[in-house]
Amino acid sequence: MTEFELIRTYFASQPVQRADVRVGIGDDAAVVEAPAGTETVITTDVMVAGVHFFEDTEPAALGYKALAVNLSDLAAMGAAPAWFLLDLTMPEVDAAWVEAFARGMYELAERHEVQLIGGDTSRGPLAIAITAIGLLPRGGAMRRQGAAVGDVIYVTGTLGDAALAVAARRGELAVPREQDASGLRDRLAYPAPRIDEGVKLRDYASSAIDVSDGLLADLGHILESSGVGARLNLGALPLSPSYRSCLAQVGWDYALAGGDDYELCVTVPPARVGRVDALAAASGFALAAVGEITKGRAIEIYDALGKIYEPKRKSYEHFARA
Ligand code: ADP
Ligand code: MG
Repeated sequence: MTEFELIRTYFASQPVQRADVRVGIGDDAAVVEAPAGTETVITTDVMVAGVHFFEDTEPAALGYKALAVNLSDLAAMGAAPAWFLLDLTMPEVDAAWVEAFARGMYELAERHEVQLIGGDTSRGPLAIAITAIGLLPRGGAMRRQGAAVGDVIYVTGTLGDAALAVAARRGELAVPREQDASGLRDRLAYPAPRIDEGVKLRDYASSAIDVSDGLLADLGHILESSGVGARLNLGALPLSPSYRSCLAQVGWDYALAGGDDYELCVTVPPARVGRVDALAAASGFALAAVGEITKGRAIEIYDALGKIYEPKRKSYEHFARA
């Protein structure tokens, strides 16, 4: 057995085995069967050591996150994830590393019943690319275009936690309590792709995106695609208790502009807002109404006193700093 055959063995031992996979790992290509009446949604994301993650990130977290960021893109389209492919380049094959990486990846794969159906492995600098494939009823995709004036802007979960974890790691911020610091680190390492939210919201939303580069940047993509503007209410932004513990120190800009949240931002026409609020309550979704779509092209942010708030930073470059 070569080293890479060993790796394939790890990746062939996945717990999820879907009935719609005709040919999985071990042939020249995978064969899957999509149900009649569905559309196939395909996305890919690459993560490079030192660029997208700290080199010392534990392998289980890398495996988890490489899949999570792809599932988040499927969620933003409203798709249910089904299958994924894994391309891995590594400087050397370390069986313990691969085992932990696979464990982290499978933990998330099992949660959403998504099966690894193939990939490629090569020697090289540490980099991980995943291609994820999901299913949608025909014509059901949420798009970045479609937001209209008066639509309510919703955000899932909480914002800014991952960016605070990066700042803390760099020594730019001292989180008072260790409990909060570790909560923030968890949000950076193990983001929860909002699959259930995406699938259920697709029947109500006029547009959607996942928040990977910060709310201002990603909402900005919706506005550009839809040809509209937005008003955000600062006090309505959903913050975790850990974020609140440092709010006086860091202000709101991490929630507005921090990356790596992997929450969903969706817009909902006023006529459907009641049904969406009821759906969120019934499903236990954390869903915050943070503003509304306006005419024009800009994002205006209002503080609790109704005054315009100007963020000091519109985006954070997480790992670009040498
Ligand atoms: P080929 O030379 O035909 O491309 P490979 O030797 O690269 O075949 O791969 C053999 C099988 O192992 C294929 O089914 C491929 O999808 C799978 N495989 C290789 N690397 C990975 C990986 N990193 N993750 C999952 N499956 C992989
Ligand atoms: Mg190959």
